[in-house]
Amino acid sequence: MFAVHLLAFHFTKLKEDQIKKVDRYLYHMRLSDDVLLDVMARFRAEMAKGLGRDTNSTATVKMLPSFVRSLPDGSEKGDFLAVDLGGSQFRALEVKVFNDGKQSSQLESKFYPTPKEVIQGSGTELFNYVADCLLDFMESKNLQHKKLPLGFTFSFPCKQTKLEEGALLAWTKHFKVRGVQGTDVVSSLRKALQKHKDIDVDVLAMVNDTVGTMMTCGYDDPHCEVGLIIGTGTNACYMEEMRHIDLVEGDEGRMCINTEWGAFGDDGALDDLRTEFDRELDLGSLNPGKQLFEKMISSLYLGELVRLILLKMTKEGLLFNGKVSTALLTKDKIEMKHVCAMEKYKEGLSNTKEILTELNLFPSEEDCIAVQHVCTIVSFRSANLCAAALAAILTRLRENKKVLRLRTTVGIDGGLYKTHPQYPKRLHKVVRRLVPNCDVRFLLSQSGSSKGAAMVTAVAYRLAAQRKQIDAVLAPFLLSLDTLREVKNKMRAELEYGLKRETQASATVKMLPTYVCGTPDGTESGKFLALDLGGTNFRVLLVKIRSGRRRSVQMYNKIFAIPLEIMQGTGEELFDHIVQCIADFLEYMGIKGARLPLGFTFSFPCRQASIDKGTLVGWTKGFKATDCEGEDVVDMLREAIRRRNEFDLDIVAVVNDTVGTMMTCGYEDPNCEIGLIAGTGSNVCYMEDMKNIEIVEGNEGKMCINTEWGGFGDNGCIDNIRTKYDKQVDEGSLNAGKQRYEKMTSGMYLGEIVRQILIDLTKQGLLFRGQISESLRKRGIFETKFLSQIESDRLALLQVRRILQQLGLDSTCEDSIIVKEVCGAVSRRAAQLCGAGLAAIVEKKRENRGVEHLQITVGVDGTLYKLHPHFSRVLQETVRELAPQCDVTFMLSEDGSGKGAALITAVAKRLHNIGRKDKL
Ligand code: ADP
Ligand code: MG
Repeated sequence: MFAVHLLAFHFTKLKEDQIKKVDRYLYHMRLSDDVLLDVMARFRAEMAKGLGRDTNSTATVKMLPSFVRSLPDGSEKGDFLAVDLGGSQFRALEVKVFNDGKQSSQLESKFYPTPKEVIQGSGTELFNYVADCLLDFMESKNLQHKKLPLGFTFSFPCKQTKLEEGALLAWTKHFKVRGVQGTDVVSSLRKALQKHKDIDVDVLAMVNDTVGTMMTCGYDDPHCEVGLIIGTGTNACYMEEMRHIDLVEGDEGRMCINTEWGAFGDDGALDDLRTEFDRELDLGSLNPGKQLFEKMISSLYLGELVRLILLKMTKEGLLFNGKVSTALLTKDKIEMKHVCAMEKYKEGLSNTKEILTELNLFPSEEDCIAVQHVCTIVSFRSANLCAAALAAILTRLRENKKVLRLRTTVGIDGGLYKTHPQYPKRLHKVVRRLVPNCDVRFLLSQSGSSKGAAMVTAVAYRLAAQRKQIDAVLAPFLLSLDTLREVKNKMRAELEYGLKRETQASATVKMLPTYVCGTPDGTESGKFLALDLGGTNFRVLLVKIRSGRRRSVQMYNKIFAIPLEIMQGTGEELFDHIVQCIADFLEYMGIKGARLPLGFTFSFPCRQASIDKGTLVGWTKGFKATDCEGEDVVDMLREAIRRRNEFDLDIVAVVNDTVGTMMTCGYEDPNCEIGLIAGTGSNVCYMEDMKNIEIVEGNEGKMCINTEWGGFGDNGCIDNIRTKYDKQVDEGSLNAGKQRYEKMTSGMYLGEIVRQILIDLTKQGLLFRGQISESLRKRGIFETKFLSQIESDRLALLQVRRILQQLGLDSTCEDSIIVKEVCGAVSRRAAQLCGAGLAAIVEKKRENRGVEHLQITVGVDGTLYKLHPHFSRVLQETVRELAPQCDVTFMLSEDGSGKGAALITAVAKRLHNIGRKDKL
């Protein structure tokens, strides 16, 4: 009993001594966490360098864009071919992917030898060989008559320019084929395949083995966004934000970056960590000075490192009684498989003893313990370094996503990771220690590198099919210049109908005379009240106008909500509410006693017989109060004031908001003869020659016409460009069949059009995983202001996702891109249609004046125009394109509907005082 104890004690002591000896000897290879954190920081800096436009050329870590932008989403399906060149064996595969909700796939493959004369011959020979093998494989599987997409795993550093195009940067490993470097390997493969007339294969993608691994794991686990290879070579890829990839156009979404991290340290960045053994190993390698990080990690070099260490220790008398064997002097005599076997601690020292004996080293027990520990230090260092670089990638991912904790999956392939008994455990542990704020799952890939090419192809195939469907949905929103010209011409015709006596009654563009005949001349002054009804808000304003040298306009206003039940209740209730708001305002301003002149901006179509009379033709936008249509709105307002019997007002003018806008801008720029609104609704007014206005007496001078162009198309004349989504929006509106042009161009409807498209895309399975959420079903949920936000160029996709999230729409990165595209198509069409309409107006003005070239200013108001990031530009471009003889200046109106009404009132008041009451 005692003896056994003593023996055990003796052995433990012996073991400790050996371990201490090796630890001391190799202290430089044992990396503390502090050192690893430092390596991590260095690698992060190297990644940033590789991604930067100006720094890429000098970066050692090349960060190659792979043009793989999407991970599998489980809806992939089909039959795909793949060839895998660059691994330890050449392989042809057939991968069947099923869209059965269980992420299942079926793989059949065949390995082919890679004879030396092929991998060290000419490029033509190599690709012919690949094509021949593929043909053989297809014949054996009876596939030669099918047209199949093919993915190409090509595990050498390549500079890709497309998913299916990439030039070889340099051969690595045991390959050295002439005439391939710098050329596109996909087209070489295609050329070789075309020689076989009997097969029809379409090369859709080319991928690196790391990317293949990530994609294969991504099919099983949607969180997978990193691919890692720890085998003969080592490398990693991950999904980077496009906006950080300087070398590829575009800022949207993500792209997989093949880091080629094996070259980390080639500029000396790791020299302080490299030992004399690393340097010796490098000098004896095929590519000295290159792939220095890889040489400290990958399985190709681990055994050789161990051998160099053992050799030196033996020479110094620390092992094997100082006796060096010939085997120990032979390069590559110790391989990875030996290191793995020696580190099988469960099997004690027997493997070690056997291996060392085979090397003629006559090991003692102590020697075996020491050698086993040398192996451990070398392989542990590999795992440590790999973990540090991986931790840097994970941190980058976490920061890109702006989250405190990252949950992600790393797909792994490679012999060292798969066969070494302790490697995975060590790697995982160190990574978790270095990045405690990342929850990482490590997923071993099954034939990842080969199958991955098929997966990439499957994803590319799915995306191409989806793209086709999305394009088909959005195609009707793309209007050609010819179509826009046609819209302009139709608008022009409708303007004429509205002005002519015979056609005017049935015209859809009503061309309502406003009895506003001139612009302010600067002599107006006084205090006025103004009301602004017809948009999102109801406002009451007090406007003080000064004339002469101290010419200025001062305004005070208060916004009042009009509850939905009042907008859509009875007319009496609506006008009582308005008067109530006026009373509040007068009270608030302390001017209840003063009988001020009032201008009423009423932004609905009104048939006017004088400046202070206006019969409502019909409600538009969100209003639908009963007993108003056909009534004089000024009378209704007067009656409501009388009913309240609390104060009196002098209602001088009823004004459309377009007219107010034109007048406000006209106050600054006398050349402003057009007023445009692009807000909740869409409308235009302009100064027309009296002689063209048949329904108003007189042929002298001009009068402002409120076109009410929102009704354009109500006779079906633009039905050829209306989409089914426009029809759905129309059917769901308060005034179905009416205001068709307005419903394609204004703020109240654009969001709703987008919502209808999103529903359709979702039904087709192209968005939101095919799930129509409760919120997407809600009418009005997608407000037009979200279009502005989503389409803003400054906004990253992540923020688009956040906006959608707020709307209850749980979107992926790809969903967000599609939603943004939909918004763009809808708002662009709106701006173009609006521009086409405006082109008709300015052209008419030019012809009226009988000039070759017209200079004119358009006063514009409306939040859509003012806040949408692209609307105004596209509108202006369209006008320029469709009315090239007109030089149009766009002038933003500052609060046109309030200020304009007061200005009109002031002018009317002045004219009234000199005895002209009916018009201005
Ligand atoms: P109105 O036309 O009602 O007098 P506005 O010109 O302010 O008033 O337009 C309001 C409309 O503008 C809203 O109904 C909404 O559709 C739209 N809108 C609001 N915010 C934005 C925005 N950020 N971008 C584009 N459109 C917007
Ligand atoms: Mg307005």
